[in-house]
Amino acid sequence: MLIKPNAVKNGFAHEIFLMVHNHGFKILAQKKLQLSEREAQAFYRVHAGKPFFQGLVEFMTSGPIYAAVLEKENAVAEWRTLMGATDPAKAAEGTVRKKYAESVQHNAVHGSDSDENALNEIFFFFSAREIVNAGGDIYQLHDILKNEQ
Ligand code: UDP
Ligand code: MG
Repeated sequence: MLIKPNAVKNGFAHEIFLMVHNHGFKILAQKKLQLSEREAQAFYRVHAGKPFFQGLVEFMTSGPIYAAVLEKENAVAEWRTLMGATDPAKAAEGTVRKKYAESVQHNAVHGSDSDENALNEIFFFFSAREIVNAGGDIYQLHDILKNEQ
């Protein structure tokens, strides 16, 4: 998951991590960083060519973000539920986006949309060594994916 620049700027990162913790996720690893333009373009490459792409890249590079690896049974779906809908106007009560998003673009947090993309996104931000040193099992992550195919 990512905490996007607007939420970090507004000082909500700690409260968001607290929500994550209180909903039973283990925060396996986390770091604060600022994306370059090339990095943001690469991270959001599935959206390249869409009308909101350039604005999204500008927004995501506009300030520091947090990247974190969350662990929980069924983590991808569980985090998407807690995160809420992309458009905060449609996000359910009690979700992160309902509470902290300002608009469709400035929607406070990012979540992966599949186990396969989660693994790609984890390794976009963290090295295998960082995950291992945080107590994570990268080989188990790979095995879970293999067994799903
Ligand atoms: N986004 C945007 N305008 C749109 C749709 C999406 O600015 O019309 C941004 C928004 O920040 C969103 C991100 O692009 O979180 C990725 O879009 P996606 O459809 O993957 O939504 P998500 O998976 O983040 O809910
Ligand atoms: Mg998405």
